[in-house]
Amino acid sequence: MKILLKKCLSALMLLSSVAVIPAKASEQQINMINDVSHHYSFFYAWKNPNSFGGKYGYVDWNNNQQFIQSQATISTINLTDINLFNVLLGANQDLLYTAKDVAHLNKYLTAGGGLFLVNTAIMQESPNARALLQEYGVAIAKEMSNGRIFSADGEEYEISKQVNLLALDDKYEWEVLAADESDNPVIATREQGKGHVTVSSFSPFKRIQTKGKQLADDFRFPNYELMQPIFKQTASGKTVKKEINLDSIPTDKVKDMGSFQIRYTDYSAHIVEKVLKDYNVIYPELEKYMGVPMAAGHGEGEIFAIDLLATGGGGVSYGKRIGISMFKDNYFGILGHELTHSWVLPHGEPLSGEGIAIHVGSKTQALASKKIGYEKGVKIGSTTLTNRISKAVKAEGFKQWDPINMSAKEGISFGKTITHGKYLYIIDHFETTYGEDVVARYFQLKRKLVPATEFNFTGHDSVWLWSKATGEDQFTYFQKLGIAADKAKVAIPAALAES
Ligand SMILES: [Zn+2]
Repeated sequence: MKILLKKCLSALMLLSSVAVIPAKASEQQINMINDVSHHYSFFYAWKNPNSFGGKYGYVDWNNNQQFIQSQATISTINLTDINLFNVLLGANQDLLYTAKDVAHLNKYLTAGGGLFLVNTAIMQESPNARALLQEYGVAIAKEMSNGRIFSADGEEYEISKQVNLLALDDKYEWEVLAADESDNPVIATREQGKGHVTVSSFSPFKRIQTKGKQLADDFRFPNYELMQPIFKQTASGKTVKKEINLDSIPTDKVKDMGSFQIRYTDYSAHIVEKVLKDYNVIYPELEKYMGVPMAAGHGEGEIFAIDLLATGGGGVSYGKRIGISMFKDNYFGILGHELTHSWVLPHGEPLSGEGIAIHVGSKTQALASKKIGYEKGVKIGSTTLTNRISKAVKAEGFKQWDPINMSAKEGISFGKTITHGKYLYIIDHFETTYGEDVVARYFQLKRKLVPATEFNFTGHDSVWLWSKATGEDQFTYFQKLGIAADKAKVAIPAALAES
């Protein structure tokens, strides 16, 4: 146990540091918005709780908490029924907070709302994050402290790496909720109006790398026990109803392109045209390469949508909606990859969804780049595949990995080099042996012969399709590679009719 001395704080602050957790804290309803318009975190922002047993992340789904992720322009969000507004402060200085945003947040605080500012910048804050923090009397201290943090009652919490420290303006009465070994504040809160402003270093939220463990049924974010009371305290100035459907709160701006939409914010509006330009170049290349029209957004009134995500990382595909990193010089790579994930639907590729997305993404990245004379893109597109394949074949376990008969969980121990790379090796072999358009033939057959609904598309079915696309029986080829494909287990109606 550790006693907090709070030596960096004034006596006045010490007097004020009495917890204001309401008596019936467990019954308190929290309606939370996670603003990810300046910093998108795939981990923090993930929306669907059901895919993780209903207990995903920081939200206690069984205990009156609900949340949405939002990429809206802050000043336009209706915060009437919200009592916890989490802002992930972004490190990219292209996306500026506006005076309107601050006025909107201050009005919300006056009415009792809870504002939770999370500094996501690891080393130093960006000018726009710094400006917003300054509005609330906080700076990120230059020093960082190693590893350990302690709650106000002395409990120690584990974090993954270094801790960003807060420098608190002592014109306000702060209550320090977590501090490092030397009592420097890591999380602190104060009152404003009827509401509360809480500021946190991102460090307590950082995922502790557990390779695959995050998919456990009862998975919680790191430091859940520390954060829950802090969330409740921050939201305690305002009572909200449970019945509010957070999905009805408008979240972003939409540019309608007819066959698809782009979703963005006021902050990222200047990026939309750049993305559209690249989209229009790569889309026809993808259509040619895949040999079939785009799957998502072409049925039952679905509109295909692209979200611009404030991340320098990759992207994500939810089928009829993809998210792509907005901080790129060129969007061919990310569009080619994420669009392929959506293109292969309604059935994912059982031999490796990532494999096909990497293959087609890289090939079309090179083709699109060639079309506009973008040498860098041509080079990246072509070397990505050769590098990955040569790494995969040399990796221990390449021969043993069987995507048909082993589980995804087993795949984790083989590693992505093998689970993605083995399929890259196979597709490359098919293209070299049977011609560049073999992928198009495969997907044409898949669209034509595999029932769109009520059908479980397996690896055995996929190998049968590859046999048809190449005009040769490929079951032996896969078996020689250690993948026990079985013709007797193929369930595609056309295959059953043949046998
Ligand atoms: Zn992918």
